[in-house]
Amino acid sequence: MASFDLHYHIIPSHPEAHLFTVTLTIEKPNPAGQTLSLPNWIPGSYMIRDFAKNIVSLAAQSNGKPLAVTQQDKSTWLCAPTTASVIITYDIYAWDLSVRSAHLDQTHAYFNGTSVFLAVEGQTDTPCKVSIVAPQGEAYDTWRVATSMQELGAQRYGFGTYTCADYDELIDHPVEIADFTLAHFTACGVEHDVVLVGKHYADMKRLCSDLTKICETHIQFFGTPAPMSRYVFMTLVVGEGYGGLEHRNSTSLICNRADLPNKHDGDTVTDGYRTYLGLCSHEYFHTWNVKRIKPAVYLPYELKDETYTELLWAFEGITSYYDDLGVLRSGIIDQKSYLALLGQTISRVLAHKGQNKQTVANSSFTTWTKFYKQDESASNNIVSYYTKGSLIALCIDLAIRAQSQHQFSLDDVMRHLWENFGKQGIGIQNNTIQQAIHSITQVDLTDFFNEALYTTNPLPIQALLAEHGITLNVRQPNDTQDSGGKAATKTPNLYVGMKTKAAAAGVHVTVVLDDSPAQQSGISAGDVIVAIDGLKAEQSNWQTLINYKGLHPTSIHLFRRDELLTLTLTPVIAPKMSYYLKIIDANKANAWLTPQR
Ligand code: ZN
Repeated sequence: MASFDLHYHIIPSHPEAHLFTVTLTIEKPNPAGQTLSLPNWIPGSYMIRDFAKNIVSLAAQSNGKPLAVTQQDKSTWLCAPTTASVIITYDIYAWDLSVRSAHLDQTHAYFNGTSVFLAVEGQTDTPCKVSIVAPQGEAYDTWRVATSMQELGAQRYGFGTYTCADYDELIDHPVEIADFTLAHFTACGVEHDVVLVGKHYADMKRLCSDLTKICETHIQFFGTPAPMSRYVFMTLVVGEGYGGLEHRNSTSLICNRADLPNKHDGDTVTDGYRTYLGLCSHEYFHTWNVKRIKPAVYLPYELKDETYTELLWAFEGITSYYDDLGVLRSGIIDQKSYLALLGQTISRVLAHKGQNKQTVANSSFTTWTKFYKQDESASNNIVSYYTKGSLIALCIDLAIRAQSQHQFSLDDVMRHLWENFGKQGIGIQNNTIQQAIHSITQVDLTDFFNEALYTTNPLPIQALLAEHGITLNVRQPNDTQDSGGKAATKTPNLYVGMKTKAAAAGVHVTVVLDDSPAQQSGISAGDVIVAIDGLKAEQSNWQTLINYKGLHPTSIHLFRRDELLTLTLTPVIAPKMSYYLKIIDANKANAWLTPQR
């Protein structure tokens, strides 16, 4: 076994106290004093998270004696000078049940390297050895290890030694340790593992069969061979939760138990399962788009401070466009189902005033403080680079197809970016995609890009869909839960423009939309409405109470903090903001929606 200058040793030492213990051996520390640091953010999740706040104790030793170590700032430590090897020992508190950090209890151990592995300054390009050690106790005898990290001495799924070529790789292989469910499939020659943690009733055979189709679709999209020889889908199954984070050879996901397919479902693709497959498809597409085709500013990642880019519309938006499209192309959902999803995305963007205030380039640039720190004002004041970005990708695809008489599409552009940038390790600049479109397809989208990215002008979705035999229709929403995508199913409610959830007594207002009757009446997010027109208001009946009074002013009794206010609310006929699509020329629609190969 080759010798390594860096050796990390991690053990879920105190599951009941949620503590991991890490021992880091540095064979050749900087003789002038070794600096160590932990990242302040994790690639793919653009918020300063200060992972080092969870380091609860840290000590150094050298030559068997304690070595002085001083903290330099919130995430950096400096060891006293020595020419001998140094051993750093530290405990990390792990109680964040998300895909971005670390979590440990008696049911499982999960971590990202960004939460647990200190970087050794000056040696981040040095290969390292990682020993993953089982916690003490019989209760953990059935635990196994799931990670895409390369085994060194360890058996696959076993505790033992793994290795990474550098720090960038070390923090890109999340590790799940538990008595998990494990299944396998092969797609285009690539081994895939499916790991489920948490109580579940999933039909693993069906799940593997559907994931095979999606993975093959994406591998064939970019061209074989795939850039990875192995891939791991890790999902934490919970009662209610949703999220995913992409990595070079794996992904960490959280999903609702009810979203996983069950033998009872038969062949039905439930809305929940479609959502889960869309999430898997999304993270898998990232294996190329963002993990390898990257903004130049991510080469390399600088994880101390925010890294600004206008390009997240391309990395999240294009990926969002191809996630559902990939599920359609893999044959799991049909055109009608796909167009319903697209109608919902269009509704989500166009129904909110934020799209009139923020450009998608600015949404990307300010993600650190706006998109990732959303409050009750988000739908009024910001636009999502995921949803609007996916509509921009749609427009680009449809425009290239129309203007090149279906000779080219966005698919060709993505393959070009993979071959000429991702594969070569060359970063993307702000104008790279526009230039690629022009050089490959001869279609000039300069004006479109300037408007779509840098203004809030409406996107030409309707006109472009029409060229492909599809109409974009809009109707009144049935209620505040109506996400669009389908034609009307009932008489719409009157509209006040607020979103609510149940409160202990009354109705908790979560969002008040700009220029709505609710806003004009003075209702604010955080208010608890207790009566409407003198009748007790609850989450289940407030809309009915509004409908009773018709378009007449009605009295609202609410608590703001602990003060009772009486306001007058005048509902209106609901504005049209639920979009849905209809195919009127199947030949034209098929040319876009039918798999290309
Ligand atoms: Zn994403």
